Amino acid sequence: PTLSNQIAAGEVIERPASVVKELVENAIDAQASQIDIQVQEAGIKSIRVRDNGQGIAAEQVTLAFQAHTTSKITTSQDLFQVRTLGFRGEALASIAAVAQVTLTTSSDGAHGTQIKIAGGQQESLVDLAASQGTTVVVADLFYNTPARLKYLKTVNTELNRVIDIVNRLALAHPQIAFTLRTEKKDLLKTSGNGQLQQALAGIYGRKAAQQMVSFKQESADFQVWGYTSLPQETRANRKYISLLVNGRYIVNYQLVQALLAGYGTKLMVGRFPLAVVNIKLDPILVDVNVHPTKREVRFSKESLLAETLTAAIGQGLGQSNL
Ligand code: ADP
Ligand code: MG
Repeated sequence: PTLSNQIAAGEVIERPASVVKELVENAIDAQASQIDIQVQEAGIKSIRVRDNGQGIAAEQVTLAFQAHTTSKITTSQDLFQVRTLGFRGEALASIAAVAQVTLTTSSDGAHGTQIKIAGGQQESLVDLAASQGTTVVVADLFYNTPARLKYLKTVNTELNRVIDIVNRLALAHPQIAFTLRTEKKDLLKTSGNGQLQQALAGIYGRKAAQQMVSFKQESADFQVWGYTSLPQETRANRKYISLLVNGRYIVNYQLVQALLAGYGTKLMVGRFPLAVVNIKLDPILVDVNVHPTKREVRFSKESLLAETLTAAIGQGLGQSNL
């Protein structure tokens, strides 16, 4: 199974940020309220994700690493319906095929299990005392696939991708307390108190978060709400815009344009707000089968949605009495 796992891994696990995404999504699926992430050399040397979620029962631990055995979802539309983020039971198997993985877990906060897998081969499985939740350590990513290791960018670029994905996941889950740190410093800490503005403060700083205005608009088909920065507090880069559709981070050019349109003439050309846009809609109105990563989606009432967003932003900024 090692070879097929290595091939499958190519689709999901491209870089350290993909590992971080899959491990954090598993922690979210496990109902964790605290998720701590630590990376060394942007995750190339090691990634550690610790959660206080429901854990894995001893007899399920080896199963969790077998490809396609523990799917939580059946159709891609479910991705927007069901609250689990799982990727068809592939992630752990794929990661374990291309790294040295140690997973320690307890589902009762006392009895735990620790499994070590390297290059798809199980090396040990032991019982031990462990606290509630799961800790996964992924070391020496791509140690057995040199081509993929070579394809990685600089440590800085890879670290920025890790930060970016953690930011989006933390914004999508303000009810979860996140920390992210490297060997050198703490990069992020969110309170987990459920308030989006608190999550924004933990990621972009308290001052930036306090200067944002809230917006909210409802129509028959959509609920649109979030926070956006004042026209004079914008950034030179669109990566500070997070679009979350039913809690899932997406990219969509039209919606970014609709967000900018909400600023009218107040926005300088080439400037972008710091913004989090939550969109809630019936999953039937989204097609997630546009792109394998599900990052790009198509809306069946896109112009209506765009108008709703533009109106929401316009109203939010208007009420801020700039
Ligand atoms: P998927 O998320 O699509 O089910 P994964 O390979 O990511 O596939 O995970 C396999 C299984 O391992 C999950 O279905 C879940 O049962 C279990 N699992 C993985 N990570 C965790 C975690 N942090 N806490 C609890 N269970 C986990
Ligand atoms: Mg998963």
